[in-house]
Amino acid sequence: MVVRVGGLAMAAQPEPDDQEAPDAAEGRPSKAPRARRKPAGYPVPDDELRAPPPPPSGNLYLYHAFRGEALKVNIYNSDGSYDIDALRAASHLLRCPRTDAERDMEPRLLVILSHVYDHFGKRRIEVTSGYRNQRRTSSYHFRGSATDILVAAVKPTRLRAFVETLDSGGMGIGLYPRAGFVHVDVRPPPSYRWIDNNPVDHSDPDRRPPRGWMTDTFCKNGSKSFSLSITML
Ligand SMILES: [Zn+2]
Repeated sequence: MVVRVGGLAMAAQPEPDDQEAPDAAEGRPSKAPRARRKPAGYPVPDDELRAPPPPPSGNLYLYHAFRGEALKVNIYNSDGSYDIDALRAASHLLRCPRTDAERDMEPRLLVILSHVYDHFGKRRIEVTSGYRNQRRTSSYHFRGSATDILVAAVKPTRLRAFVETLDSGGMGIGLYPRAGFVHVDVRPPPSYRWIDNNPVDHSDPDRRPPRGWMTDTFCKNGSKSFSLSITML
């Protein structure tokens, strides 16, 4: 099943990604306070940003931890342009585990993952979450521009430190010490950093599939179609 999507629409509001903080920005009615603590985060000042790095090899070795699927691919053609089939293959691997829906992932995010692959000795990148067809649509996971990743034998703090060197503006980087992964997304500036010491709550209502997704999305758009949009070249 494939969900047809158009271009990427991103909010100007800086925010962390997965947890509670965006609620106020979305204007949601206040609810009884959750037990989870609000993650500490901050917009990144310009002097913390780095110059854009040279392009990576383009190689990716992704492993989706929940699906048990792996993918080795190079996202570039020999002339340096994106290999559309490779981008599609990566988007397929990173599809939503709950609904099987698929969205074209942002190429700039895949470039960052290739940098990670090159830097840490060509070890596979374990993805605990990619695209999520979920109820809270302000998440960069919903927008196809976020992954939660870890690399075997690499401490999340070290992984985060390297990913931060890739940020020339327009990235969200969150450390999840208890869950043991690093959230990486691409977004409009400013960049944002946060640390979330909460465990991952897979029962979070925000992470449930959108209401009516079976009927509205699956049945109406259930044909095997895929429209790839590259919006952040
Ligand atoms: Zn995330």
